[in-house]
Amino acid sequence: MNWQPSATRYEQADFRRCGHSGLDLPRISLGLWHNFGDTDAFATGRATIRRAFDRGVTHFDLANNYGTPYGSAEENFGRILQKDLHPYRDELVISTKAGWDMWPGPYGNGGSRKYLLASLNQSLKRMGLDYVDIFYSHRPTPDVPLEETIGALVQAHRQGKALYVGISSYDAASTREAEVILRSAGVPLLVHQPAYSLLNRGIEATLLPTLEELGVGCVIFSPLAQGVLTRKYLGGIPSESRAATSRFLDQAAITPQVLDAVRQLDQLAQARGQSLAQMAVAWTLRNPVVTSAIIGARNVQQLDETLAALDNLTFDATELAAIEQALSG
Ligand code: NDP
Repeated sequence: MNWQPSATRYEQADFRRCGHSGLDLPRISLGLWHNFGDTDAFATGRATIRRAFDRGVTHFDLANNYGTPYGSAEENFGRILQKDLHPYRDELVISTKAGWDMWPGPYGNGGSRKYLLASLNQSLKRMGLDYVDIFYSHRPTPDVPLEETIGALVQAHRQGKALYVGISSYDAASTREAEVILRSAGVPLLVHQPAYSLLNRGIEATLLPTLEELGVGCVIFSPLAQGVLTRKYLGGIPSESRAATSRFLDQAAITPQVLDAVRQLDQLAQARGQSLAQMAVAWTLRNPVVTSAIIGARNVQQLDETLAALDNLTFDATELAAIEQALSG
C-alpha cells in the first residue's frame, strides 16, 4: 500500500509569507546538505522526510552538489518523491541551487550562464521534476558579470523550470544590484538564503534591513551552527557527529570559548523549558524579517526535537539580554 501522510499535517503547522511575494513557507524547513547522500542510510533519510511532511514541513532545500557523491541528495530525494511524495508535489516547495563546485572543468562551478542552466537541467533530471519551486544562485561570483548570473535565473524562470528565483550568501550591496536586474526583467527576487545563528550574526547589521526594505524573503541556513548549538559537543567530539565526519565543520572552531557560551546558552534554554537546539532555532525566527529557518537532521529524533522549537518562539527582553550576555564572554 502506498504511504499516506498524516491527515492532520497542517493542524499545528506555522507558515509565513516570503517577503512581498504570494508564497507562504513553513517557519522551519528541512535541508538535505548532509545526511541524504549515497553514503547515508536511505531508509533513515526517507523516514526523516516523511516525518517532516507529516508535521507540516512543506519546504525542502537542496543543491546540485549536496550529498556524497555530489548529486546524490537530489537523486535520493527524487526516489523519495517517486515512492512517497509524488501525489503531493503541489503541496511542496522544492529548491535547488548552483554556484559551487559540481563537475570538472570551467563550466561546472561559478556563476556563468553556461553552468547555471546546465546544472538546473541536471538537477531536474536527478529529482525527476519538470520544475523546481525556487532556483538559487548559490554564491556571489565576483569574476562573472552579475548580469550574466542573474540573467541565467531570469532564463530559468522564463522557461518555467523555476517558479521563483533566489540568491544565497550575497552581501547587501550585491543583493540590491541583483534585485534591480531581476525587477527590470519582470522577475521578482523571492528570497535570499544567508547563514544565521546565535554564533553567526553577520547579516544583522545590513543584510536583514536591506531585505526588509526590498520586500525580499529571508530563509536562513545552519541555525544550529551545524550542530554546535546543541549539547553534543559539551563532552568532546562524538564519533558520528558532523565535526568528526564532515570537512565542513572544523573541529578547531569548537573552542573552549565557544563551548563556554554554549553551556551558558544551554542553561538559558532550560530556564525556558526548551532544549538548546529548540532555543537556537526559535531565536533565529524571532526576527520578523526571517521567513524560515532551514535545519538539518540526521534522523527522525533530531527532526522531532528541533521542530518542537515552534512551541515557544517568543523571547522577553530579559531572556534576550541574558543571551547577549552569554555570547559576549
Ligand atoms: P543545522 O545548523 O540545523 O545543523 C544540522 C546538524 O546539527 C545535523 O545534521 C546534526 O548534525 C545536528 N543536529 C540537528 N538537530 C539536532 C538535535 N536536535 N540534537 C543534536 N544535534 C542536532 O543546519 P545545516 O548546517 O545542516 O544546514 C541546514 C540546511 O541549510 C542544509 O541542509 C542546506 O539545505 C542549507 N544550507 C545552505 C547553504 C548555502 O550556502 N546556501 C550552506 C549550508 C547549509 P550531526 O551529524 O552532528 O548529528
